[in-house]
Amino acid sequence: MAKQPSKKTGRKHPLSFWTGMKLWQQIFIALVAGLAVGMIIGPPAAAIKPIGTMFINAIKMLIVPLIFVSLVCGVTSMHDMHKMGRIALKTVVIYLLTTAVAITIGLGLGTLFQPGAGIDLGAAMAIEPKEAPSLIDTFVGLIPKNPIGAMADGNVLQIIVFALLFGIAINLAGEPGQKIKQFFDWLAEVIYKLTAIVISFAPYGVFALMAWVAGTYGLDVLLPLGTVILAVYAGCVIHAIVVYGGAITFIAKLNPIRYFQGIAEAQAVAFTTTSSSGTLPVTMGCVQKNLGVSRGVSSFVLPLGATINMDGTALYQGVCALFVAQAYGIDLVFGDYVTIILTSTLASIGTAGVPGAGLIMLSLVLTSVGLPLEGVALIAGIDRILDMARTALNVTGDGAVSVLVAKSEGELDETIFNKAHVLEPEKIPAE
Ligand code: ASP
Repeated sequence: MAKQPSKKTGRKHPLSFWTGMKLWQQIFIALVAGLAVGMIIGPPAAAIKPIGTMFINAIKMLIVPLIFVSLVCGVTSMHDMHKMGRIALKTVVIYLLTTAVAITIGLGLGTLFQPGAGIDLGAAMAIEPKEAPSLIDTFVGLIPKNPIGAMADGNVLQIIVFALLFGIAINLAGEPGQKIKQFFDWLAEVIYKLTAIVISFAPYGVFALMAWVAGTYGLDVLLPLGTVILAVYAGCVIHAIVVYGGAITFIAKLNPIRYFQGIAEAQAVAFTTTSSSGTLPVTMGCVQKNLGVSRGVSSFVLPLGATINMDGTALYQGVCALFVAQAYGIDLVFGDYVTIILTSTLASIGTAGVPGAGLIMLSLVLTSVGLPLEGVALIAGIDRILDMARTALNVTGDGAVSVLVAKSEGELDETIFNKAHVLEPEKIPAE
């Protein structure tokens, strides 16, 4: 008969209930606990915000190397230039279409909920409108005159262009190109490992950020603008379930529950950090490891999505534009709605995936239909709360589009998708 383990060796590590949990469970508990702590202790909860800031900085640290290296690997893993062009076209078209649907849902909910009814904006302060760059300037600005400068500035679109050209050059450079390709493949492994290490700290960052938000805003600030918050949150949930859930079910013919399970960690990190660019490393890990999207497709679709695909932001702009119109008693006509849809779609492309960027772009949308910019000031008070939902929707959209594109290109590993395996935290040894 086998010897029973001694009491000593059989004893569990005191923290094993925590370290044995899946990462998404830890993040969820941290989110709820942070909310509770913030509500109970109020503004002093801001004291633990630096822990959250350290976590955000750590994921920001990964953005530039991750985009560059994974995009180069994505291009070099696709020798077929036609296929690459096709993927690019599909990605951009789906991004634009879903964004236009998002803003339409936002306008619909703004009409239904009437968030601005009975709110007096007279006392709000003036806000400077943001100038939209001209189309030609936008195109010229895509080419970095100094790639290192683009990386130092974190100019994601310029980094994408440089990485694409660099990858194409590797493919065309024959034998030396193959050596560089191998080097980048190894480098990518190291950067993915670094990403996993940073992500394992997510629960602590999420806890601190949640406690800070709940402690700073509290219920008193949130209640008067509750309808705007309700409309934006309802819109984000509807868009995620109907548009992405529907596309995953009916177009990709996959189980939508599996999709939402697989992307949950990225949603939680987006929700608390309010930065889709910052969440990119986590989104990348989720779609590759949990959902089975190939590296080639995900390393192309996701960095692009984190920069140009902002369905949550577009939806929020629809709700807020109606909020301001209603608060000022201004009637919008059909043409105004079309203008809002067009400008919001374009504005969401130009919105950086960083906290609060959508609020700045809101001034552009309001200007396009002559709505008073003072409305932005009131929204600013609750913008962090709205930013949490819209950023979570932004990354949900990036992930869903990567699954759709991968499925249509035969680049989806359905065995991984159907398991919806969830990333494990780095386990701490029990003794
Ligand atoms: N925070 C959003 C994001 O990073 C952008 C926005 O402010 O709407 O996706």
